[in-house]
Amino acid sequence: MKIEIVTIFPGFFSGPLDFGITRRAREAGLVEISIHDLREFTRDKHRTVDDRPFGGGEGMVLKPEPIFECIEKLNIAPREERAPAKQSVILLSAQGRRFSQSVATELAGLEQIALICGRYEGVDERVSMHLADRELSIGDYVLSGGEMGAAVIVEAVTRLIPGAVGNEASTRQESFTAHPELVGDGPSSTCVSGGLLDYPHFTRPADFRGMDVPEVLIQGNHEEIRRWRRRTALEKTLRNRPDLLDRTLLSKEDEKVVAEIMDHQH
Ligand code: SAM
Repeated sequence: MKIEIVTIFPGFFSGPLDFGITRRAREAGLVEISIHDLREFTRDKHRTVDDRPFGGGEGMVLKPEPIFECIEKLNIAPREERAPAKQSVILLSAQGRRFSQSVATELAGLEQIALICGRYEGVDERVSMHLADRELSIGDYVLSGGEMGAAVIVEAVTRLIPGAVGNEASTRQESFTAHPELVGDGPSSTCVSGGLLDYPHFTRPADFRGMDVPEVLIQGNHEEIRRWRRRTALEKTLRNRPDLLDRTLLSKEDEKVVAEIMDHQH
């Protein structure tokens, strides 16, 4: 997979992309990440990438010409001819759709994505209207630039590329990952999140400063462990992200557990 990042701060990415799974995936040739300095696509001697907004108002806006020229150089099809299952041009924007695990999964299946990082007051709207095929936000807050968001998307997408994470099953079991066929009483339901938050994890020592690991995890009864993990995942989801329950396929056993937890709370 190819990931292109378009930015006025190329140096920002030496660091975030050089550690852990992202570094290993790059070294293994699973993902090729290229950083494109927007200033390289300017034509004036000051290498100007921004200008004042028409209509007046605060701040500066990234100009369209360098962004269009940069994307056009990357062998990416024009928007109207772009195959959505192969390529995507993404504008990072606080006004975009919320980035999520399911969007990450979709992007991980493409051949090439380009991430355009805005700055200042934002990006000339023609980039969103005619060049990008989607705008993505990484959350309901305003950052100073799209670089943090691009790094977040690169990491979330890269770990979903087959072979990037050593134990592939682990990415299928994580928080938010919906696999309805594996939920509840299915054969692999030991610890599949099924759209819930992940269950709690513990490691050695079993007794740390008087804080004990739950007994059930030490005893080694797989069915008991499965039930405990599912229950604690349901508890955590109810406590921290009850909205996720509406989107999760619950088994009869899950529904019973949720009812018990709710009873307990009242
Ligand atoms: N005027 C814009 C607004 O009110 O929505 C904010 C512009 S922001 C200061 C500059 C750039 O940061 C944006 O063009 C975008 O690329 C990036 N950015 C800011 N918040 C973001 C978010 N939540 N998700 C993704 N990108 C964001």
